[in-house]
Amino acid sequence: MRFDVPMRKHTSWRAGGVARRMYRPADLDDLLVFLRTLPEDEPLVAVGLGSNLLVRDGGLRGTVLLLHGALTELRLAADGTIYVEAGVAGAKLARFASLQNLRGAEFFAGIPGTVGGMLAMNAGCYGSEIWERVSQVRTVNRCGELRTRTAEDYEIAYRHVALKEKGEGRREQGDAAAEGLTLPPSPFPLPHEEFFVSATMKFEAGDGDAARQEIKALLAKRIASQPLNLPNAGSVFRNPPNDFAARLIQQCGLKGKRIGGAQVSEKHANFIVNTGDATAADIENMINEVRATVAAQTGVQLHPEVRIIGEAA
Ligand SMILES: Cc1cc2nc3c(=O)[nH]c(=O)nc-3n(C[C@H](O)[C@H](O)[C@H](O)COP(=O)(O)OP(=O)(O)OC[C@H]3O[C@@H](n4cnc5c(N)ncnc54)[C@H](O)[C@@H]3O)c2cc1C
Repeated sequence: MRFDVPMRKHTSWRAGGVARRMYRPADLDDLLVFLRTLPEDEPLVAVGLGSNLLVRDGGLRGTVLLLHGALTELRLAADGTIYVEAGVAGAKLARFASLQNLRGAEFFAGIPGTVGGMLAMNAGCYGSEIWERVSQVRTVNRCGELRTRTAEDYEIAYRHVALKEKGEGRREQGDAAAEGLTLPPSPFPLPHEEFFVSATMKFEAGDGDAARQEIKALLAKRIASQPLNLPNAGSVFRNPPNDFAARLIQQCGLKGKRIGGAQVSEKHANFIVNTGDATAADIENMINEVRATVAAQTGVQLHPEVRIIGEAA
């Protein structure tokens, strides 16, 4: 547990306020014990690599559950599926799958997030999305109850994942940490607030060398088209149906526009970069400015893909 941790160190935008408390569990059992002792009213937010996250300059009052570098198990199961914990980065998963001569995980290489963050966002690119590969996930709620769930328990769409109201899942029995511990009664009738702790994923057997070639090609494509030399959070807005947010933003003449240290990238109009000293407010103001201009000039309402949390300074 650490206190007053600057979230700019844990977000790819390298901006934002301080988290009052930050807990990185040693492993899954440790996480379960931690959650079971957490006060009911403590705000809790899971953070992976912070590559889709803007934390306002006033920071976060509650506890950040930092899962990157915490839940790191990654293995090939006997049935050929991959068991991967939430803190594993996409690039590592892509490489691991290629080393097992599995195909279909290449696209994860270019998404700079964790498996947990990718599950929460239904991350994807080049025509693939993470949930297409999921056989089941394990989740934990803030009372420390583990569940096994499948895609049927969720509403899943483009960059959208939400637990269905009746998504009860299957409560796991006999997990190591639960044994000998008395579970507090759940204050939630349904586990509304859950975090992903692992996924079981399926891929096709294939040629690992070809997979690694494809990873290289996908990364080269990203380097050519994205402003990776400056802190950013990837695409800021979701693409509207049958169109591209970048096209609309560029059409409105917003490329290169600056507010404080935040700038609409010259290289990719749907990226906002931190030119050095951007505050979270600069970035959020730029997001609002882009939305307002695109709505006024084209009539299209853009919706942010990035998650904005915390309090204004
Ligand atoms: C250069 C760049 C390129 C990118 N390209 C792509 C792309 O091609 N496709 C794409 O989809 N995205 C892309 N992104 C965005 C980002 O990488 C993805 O959204 C990724 O899934 C975020 O993962 P993360 O671990 O960083 O999540 P974070 O940013 O840490 O968190 C994102 C959200 O997920 C929640 N969350 C995190 N972990 C968990 C968990 N274990 N359980 C429940 N909720 C959790 C957080 O609370 C937050 O709401 C890009 C970002 C960058 C910087």
